[in-house]
Amino acid sequence: MVFFGLCALLLPQANSVEHTSLGPLQLEAGESREFEIPSPFAFRSVGLAWRGSFVGVELSLIDSQGKTKNSWTLSECDDLFLENSGWESLSGLVHSYSGPSYGTILRITGPAILNELALIWIPNLDSSQRQVPLAGGAGRGIPKPPVNSRLDWQADPPQCSSDYCSTTHIGVHHTASANEYLSPDWAQCSANVRSTQAYHMYTRGWCDIGYNYLVCVHGEIWEGRAGGDDIRGAHDGFNCGSMGVAMMGYFHPPHNQNPNAELLSALTKLCAWKCDQQGIDPLGTSWYAGWGGIRPNIYGHQDVKSTSCPGDLMYALLPQLRLDVEALCGVTALIFDTSQLRTLGHWTTGSSATDRYGNDYLWASSSPSVPATAWWEPNIPTTGIWEISMWWPQGSNRSTTAMLGLRTGGRLFTVVENQQLHGGQWNTLGSLQLPAGTSVKIGVANDGPLGSVVIADALRLVLRG
Ligand SMILES: [Zn+2]
Ligand SMILES: [Zn+2]
Repeated sequence: MVFFGLCALLLPQANSVEHTSLGPLQLEAGESREFEIPSPFAFRSVGLAWRGSFVGVELSLIDSQGKTKNSWTLSECDDLFLENSGWESLSGLVHSYSGPSYGTILRITGPAILNELALIWIPNLDSSQRQVPLAGGAGRGIPKPPVNSRLDWQADPPQCSSDYCSTTHIGVHHTASANEYLSPDWAQCSANVRSTQAYHMYTRGWCDIGYNYLVCVHGEIWEGRAGGDDIRGAHDGFNCGSMGVAMMGYFHPPHNQNPNAELLSALTKLCAWKCDQQGIDPLGTSWYAGWGGIRPNIYGHQDVKSTSCPGDLMYALLPQLRLDVEALCGVTALIFDTSQLRTLGHWTTGSSATDRYGNDYLWASSSPSVPATAWWEPNIPTTGIWEISMWWPQGSNRSTTAMLGLRTGGRLFTVVENQQLHGGQWNTLGSLQLPAGTSVKIGVANDGPLGSVVIADALRLVLRG
């Protein structure tokens, strides 16, 4: 069980289905064989495939502690793999609803004559795995903009060492110093960074300067906390997973300084580098580990704490900053709204929810016996890894188990989402490698408790690499 230690939690997010072949197997009646198989990545669904004659099978999942969870027999699996699979038999999927799993225990009972037996690991298309950061270094190699080092501003050495957190978010601050925004030159700006460090260390008693980076009115970027990239700073009260960047100025009353083009351009480049490096969607929202919830990937300090930081005037520029960062990253995004939905079953147009995307959305009553589905059929214009997100308006009458699905080339992936939560934002369901010209169906089915409704509102595909 050593394998399922802490390192299992660091398994990367995957972008495609993987197989683990268990080879041929022959069992007499009454014989049985048990396999314990670690997965290549943290997963939420696993399927079983084979060539050969019928087999009695039981499949259990292993969690991060190495404990086994519920087991399933073949008849309890969802039948999800449908066309062109190349296998004589496909069991469909077993899902791990309560959290990611890291392996399975497979028990086969005879009689069985199997020419081939394999497990099919289904990549993450589940929002509960938002905590697992995308693999770093998978970006397009957008260079880090020039940064004035700690040596340049003659930093005092830090008084303790900090730890590292994989960056999923960027927190934007201001230093609330009007004088800093009026600084005439490099020498003054470097003195300003020094004095921020002195304030953080000797007045507030921190280890070191709190911010990871600072940006001055001249568009110069300054290294903050010692330790380099992804070091945990002290800037928003939570910190782990967030790169804190402070604009040197005062962007709300009484000073109302307005961030200039040089400052914004430097901030944009810094964000583009980090987003590219860490696979952060500049327009997206995701799990912020330090804060313990879903936040915009690029947020203002006031998005996580009651504060006027980074100032109204800076905060109002964040939507444009996100777009500028996305443009710099060369990310391609496709957005589909309600009017492009195709439907089966009974759907009604709604527009009363204020956190909808665009003008309206469709809703259908949950029902186990009267199916209703609504889906988009985007054509993939470019080969690459596409990140798939959906938007819905939340509400107390929504299904807690709305079924969101994607079908392409005979493969079907499903995600269960609680539509009472996470309304009014893009919710990332996962990423898939898709070739240009692929036809994909992505939609919503009316699963859920009787009396509740499911929502189909908008779909976004972002080319991630
Ligand atoms: Zn702040
Ligand atoms: Zn400067």
